[in-house]
Amino acid sequence: MTIALYPGSFDPVTNGHLDIATRAAALFEQLVIGVYDVPPKSLLFTTEERVELWRQAVAHLPNTRVEAYAGLTVEFARKVKAQVIVRGLRMSSDFEKEFEMALMNKKLAPDLEVVCLMTNLEYEFLSASLLKEVAQLGGCIQDLVPEHVAVALRRKFGSR
Ligand code: ADP
Repeated sequence: MTIALYPGSFDPVTNGHLDIATRAAALFEQLVIGVYDVPPKSLLFTTEERVELWRQAVAHLPNTRVEAYAGLTVEFARKVKAQVIVRGLRMSSDFEKEFEMALMNKKLAPDLEVVCLMTNLEYEFLSASLLKEVAQLGGCIQDLVPEHVAVALRRKFGSR
């Protein structure tokens, strides 16, 4: 049985992330979504909130579960018995970053494979950071995140 891990900070989960998770859940027998507990950047949502937003987003995918983790991604992959790490690629700048990280992970855990899925055209320019900026300024985020995430963003920014 192939278990895949989709790790990220997911602050918050977007439709781009959800598209990658949905496709990975169809490719692999089990998918674990790993939410970094303490990523080295300032976040809008707490770890518990980010996990909960993901849980609601993938409640319809029976082979998918969401867990928070701290420390090395390869260690968490070992813990959940994943053989594959899934990442999403949008543009060439993602490739550079993912390539570097994949090579480092291969050095740390040679038995783990990294599988990158290309983004859906619709989500090519969608990033969690840009999304938060638009949400904070009151822009329409309707097609970019699941409805419960839009509600959570509005609540954070105190808008309607
Ligand atoms: P990071 O893991 O670098 O903190 P994120 O949590 O935002 O970044 O994203 C997790 C993974 O999802 C990364 O592989 C990222 O490239 C990918 N991703 C982010 N946004 C999209 C998108 N719109 N379409 C496809 N993949 C995406």
